[in-house]
Amino acid sequence: MKNYHLLQQAYNFEDFEKNGKQLIEQLSTYLKVQQLPESKANNWQTPDKELDYWENYQFNDLTGFVDDLLSHSIHLHNPKYMGHQVSVPAPLSILTNLVSGLLNNGMAVYEMGKAATAIEKCVVELFCEKVGYDENSNGVMTSGGTLANLTALLAARQALKDSDIWQDGCQEKLAVLVSNQAHYSIDRAARVMGLGNDGVVLVPVNPGFAMDNQALEISYQKTVDAGFKVIAIVGSACSTATGIYDDLEFIGNFCQTNNVWFHIDGAHGGAAVFSEKYKSLLKGIEKADSIIIDTHKMMMTPALSTVVLYKDKVKGSQTFHQKAQYLFEDKGYDDQWYNSGLRTFECTKFMMSLKFYVLWKSYGIEIFEENIDCLYGLGKEFAQLVDKHQDFELALDPQTNIVCFRYMKSGFDESQLNDLNKTIRQSLLEDSEFYIVQAVLNDTIYLRVTLMNPLTTGVHLQNLLNKITLIA
Ligand SMILES: *Cc1c(COP(=O)(O)O)cnc(C)c1O
Repeated sequence: MKNYHLLQQAYNFEDFEKNGKQLIEQLSTYLKVQQLPESKANNWQTPDKELDYWENYQFNDLTGFVDDLLSHSIHLHNPKYMGHQVSVPAPLSILTNLVSGLLNNGMAVYEMGKAATAIEKCVVELFCEKVGYDENSNGVMTSGGTLANLTALLAARQALKDSDIWQDGCQEKLAVLVSNQAHYSIDRAARVMGLGNDGVVLVPVNPGFAMDNQALEISYQKTVDAGFKVIAIVGSACSTATGIYDDLEFIGNFCQTNNVWFHIDGAHGGAAVFSEKYKSLLKGIEKADSIIIDTHKMMMTPALSTVVLYKDKVKGSQTFHQKAQYLFEDKGYDDQWYNSGLRTFECTKFMMSLKFYVLWKSYGIEIFEENIDCLYGLGKEFAQLVDKHQDFELALDPQTNIVCFRYMKSGFDESQLNDLNKTIRQSLLEDSEFYIVQAVLNDTIYLRVTLMNPLTTGVHLQNLLNKITLIA
């Protein structure tokens, strides 16, 4: 590349060192600033204005760009960030992400990602053990819970008796049963699989927002009577809007009796298997045929990083019976743990196992228990504050770090209360000191927090309520 001056510049490792040192210093300062009481969690802007800013942006150098990027981003490390359920990444894990970006080992085939592939197996085995699977289990990591749910449901479909849909295409009416509170990725996966409207059977929830057990029996019978083959019943652990766990033990037994694949969407709350205090919420998890857990939600790693676990490793290996002989030797699919590309949609894949592995090995698995206990504990603490306050109402007692609540005003009817809480949430967004979201439950608009940041304290929680009262 002697004559290519730009390439010479771009691949200069001395510049890398200089830029890298500067960047780490800059990001460390950023982390420090997030903890100052006067710092805000957000810097809200309308989409058009944000676009305008970047379209007219004058790029000078990396440092300047990162400064501007930071100030134009939402700050998850700020203890007043209480919005969507994405992890507040632990610094060691962030650094590992950098290494992964540098190595860029693709992982589609073993040769392109030796270490990361073996480390992925170690990580998956830890999760298999934690959920109570035996040595017949295995799994794979995917880029996110959405893709993980699709991957697991494809395995469920391929495991249907008397059909090879991968080979023959879909000849029958198929259905998935899931609670009406489930994350939309299940619905989306089912539709991607060609199931259509009628193939996504939404089971009603009980007053506590968990799948209603009796309603499940009725929905299942109706679906079968209507001529559908049920691919899977999906339990939410926990559901997204309310953070409530379905009764996994009941669903597991029901699936066993009816010989149906049991899938658990544990993207958020599956991580509670690491907590002595909260793992009972997942009672029955070991009955599942497949489970997904995001590490970029409750396990402190940057996005995206998800484990897909299969109770029966053979069934988990039969989904993609597609020959790609230039990549894989034509051996038994089940044995080739080291060619993880056989078990996932993805071809080139991020070395996502590393960011979980470093946390595990540096701090011990107890770090994940601390994180769950701390954050779920904050959820309870916040619920108590809300409950004590006469101007606020809880939607329900939280089981996790997700809490739905609303501001109450005497003399207001339901529609006025909805308008008021919607306005409060919009004002909070534009004010930017705190970041929280909202949820609609049975046509009622609630404010919703997900306490993702272990640096959040009771003082921040109280200040949020004070601020809402002021806005109201
Ligand atoms: C977040 C979430 C998902 C989607 O996972 P991504 O990693 O965001 O793709 C699926 N299910 C549940 C219950 C979730 O909370």
